[in-house]
Amino acid sequence: MTAKLTDERRARLAEFIEPFRVTPGRRVNLAEDFDPAFRGGIETKKKGRALLTEGVQLLAEYQARLAAQGTAGVLFVLQAPDSAGKDGTIRHVMSGVNAQGVTVNSFKVPSSEERHHDFLWRYEQRLPGRGAIGIFNRSHYEEVLVVRVHRETLDRELLPRSAKKKGIWKRRYREINDWERYLTDNGVAVVKVLLNLSKEEQRARLLRRIDLPDHNWKFSEADLTERARWDDYQRAYSEMLSHTSTDWAPWHVIPADRKWFGRTAAAAVLVDAMMQIDPRYPRLDKSGREALEHARASLQAEASEGATGAPEDGETSVRGVRAFNGSR
Ligand code: AMP
Ligand code: MG
Repeated sequence: MTAKLTDERRARLAEFIEPFRVTPGRRVNLAEDFDPAFRGGIETKKKGRALLTEGVQLLAEYQARLAAQGTAGVLFVLQAPDSAGKDGTIRHVMSGVNAQGVTVNSFKVPSSEERHHDFLWRYEQRLPGRGAIGIFNRSHYEEVLVVRVHRETLDRELLPRSAKKKGIWKRRYREINDWERYLTDNGVAVVKVLLNLSKEEQRARLLRRIDLPDHNWKFSEADLTERARWDDYQRAYSEMLSHTSTDWAPWHVIPADRKWFGRTAAAAVLVDAMMQIDPRYPRLDKSGREALEHARASLQAEASEGATGAPEDGETSVRGVRAFNGSR
């Protein structure tokens, strides 16, 4: 890709995702400030799909470079109410990338072992390594969402009384911000997306889960108990967005009433982050090149009569060589 094309794409992407970004320090009221049905200037589903395809291709390219470079990691945090499309987003966004470079972790009710540790412990365990993308399907933010909405969950976290006193949520926001700052300072980019669904669209989707036999397995009684606390969740999301969108790890609120739009926008946010990292294939220095030339000479010297020197899978090999000398 030429530098000019890359710059143009970056500019277009940045413009597309700009309305979703939560300005650090801004006081957010989710229901008033963000429209779940917004479609960001994309008129048709078809156009959205084409954009998603482009995003998926870009992601594959950048992921390959991220892995080759092996220094930066990317943590992609996905939060959303039930049925907002987290699973579908992961499936689509990751459809083009090399499975070896991606991990997905879904966080459920904490296990007994997890409850015996500090609240960030289990998330720390699942962070992506250098060169990898790690997706958090639900995340450390549940610690200020479900745990805040259902106070009794906090009691199960076995905190000493002094750590549960008033001010715990503000303190957790600060602790999360500090942790994310530590991660970004040390080469793990933190990319955060909230899929923003309307209550009416959730109703329709839950009904569909009941109506379609192949979707029945997705329905859980808990979906209704959580839905009953809709307003409390909206408040908890608003508070979370107001306190944890930072310069180093800003939130993006993605309109999710149209599945295709949610997926496209989520992919765009991730691609934009990857473009900012701008990972490069490592270039060999002079001694590295010399070592390669040496290896070439010794392999060529082994050739038997009539050997072409072309490997069985020429395509792969050419790409492999390019990866090393950077002539893409
Ligand atoms: P699902 O994603 O539909 O499989 O549901 C996972 C469930 O685990 C949801 O009901 C979440 O609210 C719950 N959960 C996730 N993280 C936590 C947490 N830290 N504390 C309590 N419940 C959690
Ligand atoms: Mg569920």
